[in-house]
Formats: sequence, structure tokens, C-alpha cells
Amino acid sequence: MLRKGSDGICTKCGGKMVTLMESESNVNGFKHVRYVSKCRSCNDVNVIEELIIRRRGQHVEIMVKK
Ligand SMILES: [Zn+2]
Repeated sequence: MLRKGSDGICTKCGGKMVTLMESESNVNGFKHVRYVSKCRSCNDVNVIEELIIRRRGQHVEIMVKK
């Protein structure tokens, strides 16, 4: 996939994509972190990477989902 600079260009409408980090905490210590590319014009979302962060006592486990 061709990319210009750090932000991509939307494949659907040619608009500018911005990179966002979304995170949500779940019960029992899980945390979901998602890096997405989002188009400002048509709101098309592309998941770049998805992480699950889990706290285990003194350690923090990071699992890469994608
Ligand atoms: Zn678009």
C-alpha cells in the first residue's frame, strides 16, 4: 500500500487519513488499545494495530492482536 508521509490517503474517496489511538478499559484489568487510520471526509476506518494490555500483579502483558 502506497503511503504519503505519515498519514495515508483514503482508498474510497481520496480524502486525508488521520492516525488515531483509541483505548478502552474493560472490567477485570483488560485494556484495549487500537491504532486506526480514519478518513476525515467519509469516516472510513482502517485498523492498523490492535493491542490488549493486561495487568498481572506487578507485570503488564501486552498482546498484539493483529
Ligand atoms: Zn474517505
